[in-house]
Amino acid sequence: MIERQRRTKILATLGPATDAPGVLDDLFRAGVNVVRLNFSHGDPSGQAKRAAEVRAAANRVGVEVGILADLPGPKIRIERFAEGNVQLKAGDRFDLIAKADAAPGDATQVGVSYLGLPQDVGPGDVLLLDDGLMQLQVVEVQGERIINTVLNDGVLSDRKGLNKQGGGLSLGALTERDKELIGIVAKIGVDFIAVSFCRNAQDMNDARAIARQHGCDAALVSKIERTEAIENLEEIVEASDVVMVARGDLGVEIGDAELPGLQKKIIKAALAQNKVVITATQMLQSMVESPIPTRAEVLDVANSVIDGTDAVMLSAETAAGAYPVKAVEAMARICLGAERQFQIDTDFNASPRNLERADQAIAMATMFLSQHVGVRAIVAMTESGGTARYLSRFRAKAPVFAVTRHDGARRQMALMRDVFPINFDSRGFTPREAARGSIRLLVEAGLLQAGDRVVFTSGEHMETHGATNTLRLLEVGNDGRASGLGEL
Ligand code: ATP
Ligand code: MG
Ligand code: MG
Repeated sequence: MIERQRRTKILATLGPATDAPGVLDDLFRAGVNVVRLNFSHGDPSGQAKRAAEVRAAANRVGVEVGILADLPGPKIRIERFAEGNVQLKAGDRFDLIAKADAAPGDATQVGVSYLGLPQDVGPGDVLLLDDGLMQLQVVEVQGERIINTVLNDGVLSDRKGLNKQGGGLSLGALTERDKELIGIVAKIGVDFIAVSFCRNAQDMNDARAIARQHGCDAALVSKIERTEAIENLEEIVEASDVVMVARGDLGVEIGDAELPGLQKKIIKAALAQNKVVITATQMLQSMVESPIPTRAEVLDVANSVIDGTDAVMLSAETAAGAYPVKAVEAMARICLGAERQFQIDTDFNASPRNLERADQAIAMATMFLSQHVGVRAIVAMTESGGTARYLSRFRAKAPVFAVTRHDGARRQMALMRDVFPINFDSRGFTPREAARGSIRLLVEAGLLQAGDRVVFTSGEHMETHGATNTLRLLEVGNDGRASGLGEL
């Protein structure tokens, strides 16, 4: 019996803690499927270097790893500290200086990049820093200086985000800097581009248009983290390839009590439109400092898996934490455990009815067959990954081995739940030869064995086969080759 593989994917943010030699290899061995480069931190050339190292490490380890570039968006951030961080105590006075060239901060004050901040806040307002981990209350505004009282003990470090409780501080989306960065990440060759604080479909369409102008075919990720995005959820999901439940700023803007309901709503909305969905922020937060997660964190990750997310994300746990590899190992273990306990029953009633596209109809038929005949796996030949995405939406019992020669498609599929991208070039093969060749590859990789039944589909692989869409039920023979159980 082949061991069950983890189906939920893991996204890990890179940063100083993952730069040491060997750490990337360890992260990939521990199960990272996609890495996130946050362009709010570090300079673009440093992130480009990380991207190159990711490609090299993925090659060494022999895994498909996607790269997601996260654009800063209009987030307001504090500037740097002379010593990198400061310890603050409840009751202390701590000032924010809204000035372009404020001196490096200390335990009494720090600069803020957004010069309009003094106009936007007043006495009594609560300011939330670092996704709400550090709270300040405004006492008085004196010109460019905002005088605050610290509300809780904690550490504040360079470039942490800042927001006002209840929202109202977020500016327009897709800034000039973001537009410039899209050109830079296009050159780096990333697989995903995430738009922070997007407000509507237009923000996503604009980002996509700029990416395409630069010849970049990255998937577009909308970060749902502000009130307006919730109001325009349906159109944003439609304009996105991937949706992220960005719980940090979302919790600050809308209030943490709304988060559980919103997470479920966003995941549902994404799946209903056949999109991929990531659940992010503070999933194993205590592991920034501790080698084991809290029970509450274990339950949070598991519940996100049960909610149906494609991927779970690590932020500071890997980027700046003391145990980046242990955090990924914990994530992998918890996902696998949750999947074992919880089996979603494929619900054909909830699946799309208007299957006007042939590949969607094939995906539906594939699922129906796999569920009713009982197969070990679904093997899907795909060009862009579209077929794999439809198949993945059903959350089937059988894994989907998605076969393509396109590197970019495999790396985008690395984010999809239940999908395992496989590199195989079937150009010049007949459908039968392609089926045999890819199944032999899966046997050699230890993913299939003699006697296994598979559903084989070449839904959108018509370019080279010149055949119509095919759907075949096959059995792996003793020689590792596929033999038909009968043409369907
Ligand atoms: P966002 O709202 O985009 O998530 P963030 O400030 O929360 O912004 P994360 O990417 O979630 O940033 O990472 C969490 C923390 O990890 C950051 O606040 C920062 O301290 C650290 N970090 C992440 N990436 C880097 C980096 N490239 N260089 C330095 N520190 C980093
Ligand atoms: Mg955020
Ligand atoms: Mg964050």
